[in-house]
Amino acid sequence: MKPSNKLSKILLEFSIYHTIKGDSFKPRAYEMASESVAALGNEIKQTWQSGGIKALKDLPGIGESIAEKIDEFYRTGKIKTYAKIKKEFPVDMYELSQIEGLGPKHIAELWKYLKVKNINDLKKALANNKLKDLPRWGKKSQDKIARQLKLYEQSSKRMLLGHILPIADDMVDNLSQINDVKRCTYAGSIRRREETCGDIDLIATSNHPQKVINAFCNLPQVKSVHEKGKTKASVRLHMGIDADIRVVKDEVYGATLQYFTGNKRHNVLLRQHAQKKGFTLSEYGLFKLKRSDIGRKTSDVGRNLVACKTEEQIYSKLGMDTPPPELRIGEDELEAAKKHKLPKLLPYGSIRGDLQVQSNWSDGSASIEELARAAKKQRLDYIAITDHTKSLTIAGGLDEKRLARQGKEIDKLNKKLRSFKILKGTECDILKDGKLDLSDTALAKLDFVGISVHSQFGLSEKDQTTRVIKAMSNPHVHCLFHPTCRLIGKREAIKLNMDEIIAAAKKYHVLLEINSMPERMDLNDRWVRAAINAKVKLVINTDAHSPDHFTLLQLGESTARRGWATKKDILNTKSAEQLLSWLNK
Ligand SMILES: [Zn+2]
Repeated sequence: MKPSNKLSKILLEFSIYHTIKGDSFKPRAYEMASESVAALGNEIKQTWQSGGIKALKDLPGIGESIAEKIDEFYRTGKIKTYAKIKKEFPVDMYELSQIEGLGPKHIAELWKYLKVKNINDLKKALANNKLKDLPRWGKKSQDKIARQLKLYEQSSKRMLLGHILPIADDMVDNLSQINDVKRCTYAGSIRRREETCGDIDLIATSNHPQKVINAFCNLPQVKSVHEKGKTKASVRLHMGIDADIRVVKDEVYGATLQYFTGNKRHNVLLRQHAQKKGFTLSEYGLFKLKRSDIGRKTSDVGRNLVACKTEEQIYSKLGMDTPPPELRIGEDELEAAKKHKLPKLLPYGSIRGDLQVQSNWSDGSASIEELARAAKKQRLDYIAITDHTKSLTIAGGLDEKRLARQGKEIDKLNKKLRSFKILKGTECDILKDGKLDLSDTALAKLDFVGISVHSQFGLSEKDQTTRVIKAMSNPHVHCLFHPTCRLIGKREAIKLNMDEIIAAAKKYHVLLEINSMPERMDLNDRWVRAAINAKVKLVINTDAHSPDHFTLLQLGESTARRGWATKKDILNTKSAEQLLSWLNK
């Protein structure tokens, strides 16, 4: 079993350390204890609470001296001998031991010869070809460790929100169907709609937690179980990330949800504010401190519970409005909440038309009609067909002639479809010198002109910014698509001076896009907020290349919300007529 809590990790580090020291008996004892602690989950602490060292000793795999250390850990929050070991040998033994093939002896040698403390150091040593020269290592061992490190990183990396959200939704749906579950939701980074998430944190309320835990561990998304307790469990999902669940009483749902939604900084600031007001806040609720309570543990002051049922109750007792989860990042949202100045965020489902859609005229997979029908099904009122332009030959980009023919087809379809509008548009390439890939005459005939960088990603900030602003200054241009061109985890953003781009958007009456593709999410939350502060209008598009992409709009909406966007900041919350009249101003 994989160590899945702090104590089991510490015990595993004891085991590795004693192996390095050449002890014969201790390593196995600590390893067994580590496994036992991981397997018992909650029970280990409960056992200690009810019977101390004596009860711990009765547990499988735990002898006297380890029981004493566990007791010390729960009493004081640390273990002195462990701190001593860490001083002598300041290596993240646990982390390094997670790499297949890296045993205790290797870890010791890496430290001795190369001062490798953690995976980052190991990466550097590998990049510099240092491992092969160690005594008894050689090129073969070095290559093997490099391969294993790559695998380890692949399995532990964060996932795109757009990939993880559907899985989390499914798990919540599955669990919500169980009779004994009153409420179930996800918390953490998914609830805050971060663009990437490391794991799935679920919260359920029930009077029969064990049933819920069993159901959770048996969900079809689950590959293996790390840890299974009475009210908590931790599993590995087939998709390659972990999921945790906590089952609590329905009365404390709000407190638990608030606590596990985070983020950490938001919660630290909120707890500080609570303390100033004479409260203490934990995952169990908001408690009023009596003078005599100060300095006591939260678990001892349960008599003075003030709020725990809903998040709104808790924030309101602390004298503020409830920041939507997307805003909880520990910056200025609490100040705004105290002054009742939080924005009324763009509601999900507000977008009425998608203004970046590629059809099979360029690199999309479907016909214009198929796309229009799919968009209508997703309750959209209009789309703009924005196929690529001629210099993007790889994507079958359109020249002026084909664009004119496409316009005729769109006219025909608009007559046929009724109650749905297809706008004539383009995703026009920005050429290296900032000129556009279509003639002004052709651009002038379109309803919606979007422009994009698809080449020359490596220009300097000055050149790139000048190039893009020159393109934006063309009077036919309506919108800058995926402004920074980043692909999360694959391609860095191009070097743009975003303050200047935002100023140019204001000056030339150009919209900035929030692109909803999971790996784009471009603009990101930070620049969305900066654009809004500069009174620049935004649109949220999917960049659809197939009919099933329209469901991605919610990802762009979540980015907009994280950037404090309200409905009036996002132009395609308006009807097609209102949009066109804005564009023609
Ligand atoms: Zn593009």
